[in-house]
Amino acid sequence: MPHAVSRLRTARLARASKPFLARGGPRNVRCDGCRLIPSHCMCALRPAVPSRAGVCLVMADIEALKPSNTGWLIADVVADTFAFEWARTEVDPALLALLADPQWQPYLVFPGEFVAAERVVMDVASAGASTGNNATRRPLFVLLDATWPEARKMFRKSPYLNHLPVLSLQSEQLSRYKLRRSQRDEHFCTSEVAALCMALAGEVQVADTLEAYLDVFTNHYLKAKQQQPLDMDDAAHQRLQELARPSNADLPL
Ligand SMILES: [Zn+2]
Repeated sequence: MPHAVSRLRTARLARASKPFLARGGPRNVRCDGCRLIPSHCMCALRPAVPSRAGVCLVMADIEALKPSNTGWLIADVVADTFAFEWARTEVDPALLALLADPQWQPYLVFPGEFVAAERVVMDVASAGASTGNNATRRPLFVLLDATWPEARKMFRKSPYLNHLPVLSLQSEQLSRYKLRRSQRDEHFCTSEVAALCMALAGEVQVADTLEAYLDVFTNHYLKAKQQQPLDMDDAAHQRLQELARPSNADLPL
């Protein structure tokens, strides 16, 4: 079955009043599995890594349609990835049910400087300890997948997220994400944020795989854009291969 972001993309496309034309060419020459042009398809490189933690993407309008969206990569790597489209006036009941599911301990990932101090946690273990018996709950990282101005608006206008602890990332690591050049360097892309969260949850292999997979995606995306051939043996591909065995079992081919 297509993953959550893929399903959201399909639903959003069906609702579009005019065809969404991604830069670089019409949508119909892109692979449904990875959104790249067929010559640069990376479906065969999709990693399979077990993860106890999950990710809940709350996506801004049209985010799921962008070929550069990296929430898609999270859904490729992390089996328990959920995706919902954000709207100012309504909330998907399935999102509320997920946040209330006792198997999960949700954390809303957002910069702590915008939040009351008592709501902010710096790591996953202390958050579990501070709220009592959450040690056995699985961490669920709630990510606002959006541009920074959109994310701030979503944060302010989503009262159903107000009860969640806010996980504030402290990393000094600079984003390696080169696709959205309008973003300032200190802003991480969504899959990098997920990788940092996974590392905090002790899911080191998932974190490393997300980073390596992002590097491979960036490589394929830019080479496709520049109409250059791929080097499947370069450092990014080798790193991904060392980390995770490709899963060919459920390709949408
Ligand atoms: Zn593909």
